[in-house]
Amino acid sequence: MPLLEVEQLSKKFPVGGRRMLHAVDDVSFEVDAGESLGLVGESGSGKSTIARLVSKLVDADSGAIRFEGRDIGPIPPRRFAGDPARRKIGLVFQNAGDALNPAFNAARNIAIGAGTGNVDAARIAAKAAEAGLARELLDRRPHQLSGGQQARVGIARALMSEPSLLILDEPTAALDVSVQAAVLKLIDALRREKDLALIFVSHDLEVIRLMCNRVMVLYLGRVAEYGPVADLLERPAHPYTRALIAASPGKPAGAALQGEPLSPISPPGNACLFHSRCPLAIERCLAERPALRDMPSGRRVACHRAEETTAAAPSSGLRAD
Ligand code: SF4
Ligand code: MG
Repeated sequence: MPLLEVEQLSKKFPVGGRRMLHAVDDVSFEVDAGESLGLVGESGSGKSTIARLVSKLVDADSGAIRFEGRDIGPIPPRRFAGDPARRKIGLVFQNAGDALNPAFNAARNIAIGAGTGNVDAARIAAKAAEAGLARELLDRRPHQLSGGQQARVGIARALMSEPSLLILDEPTAALDVSVQAAVLKLIDALRREKDLALIFVSHDLEVIRLMCNRVMVLYLGRVAEYGPVADLLERPAHPYTRALIAASPGKPAGAALQGEPLSPISPPGNACLFHSRCPLAIERCLAERPALRDMPSGRRVACHRAEETTAAAPSSGLRAD
């Protein structure tokens, strides 16, 4: 049994009048103990919303969230705080500084993660040490800590309840490159030592490559492509994945996506959501939204032309019909 099984998760947000933003639409995935799943996509792709739905900060409209075999989906978010599953899911958010209480010192911020009133100082110190935070920093308040130290406080807090799943939303996006590398190394070491499962949200494919076993590429709230990370990044099958790789730092400029993204507010009923930016779009793409299909080697791709793109060498120029 996988640690976490998410099935057909969907979430819309009202945006005035009768219009709805389709933030997450029919997303399914699994995470095993000790495994790290990356969620990648541009802003508005739904990756943060998935993190918030799985951690029950936000209620899903539909779909199952089975944690250790039990569907926690129907539990209202305000009641989830008292649920035993809550302790097993640790959360680490971007901008640790904002996520910490500015009036509390580091020790008290870490103690919050225990979810109970009195926390033993030795236990706080032990978790701080696991997160690589020096004991003498525990008296400091967040503004007296560096970005990297704040990130470690956030990680120590998440570790307080001995989670088996950590959900990390861009945990190092606000940090300098060298500090980022150190924090990522820590997270990876913790995963190995504790057999932690990770859901790792990032817009940075290099970070995903370093940190994850599998990756899910999201576009406007839907899964574009899903599979083992090395294989997927070597041989991307979805035109959107190819574009993301081409646009990542270190790649020649000019490969960035052309065209306007469709609005996630009331998206067209039938068309492929990527068609407005896709260099391979054909007539069928406007008439029929591609289903997520199983391909060889454990890959799933939502594109009518996936066979052609996987057959082509990654470096070959793909042309539209
Ligand atoms: Fe492009 Fe068509 Fe594939 Fe959508 S289904 S990604 S429009 S080729
Ligand atoms: Mg986000």
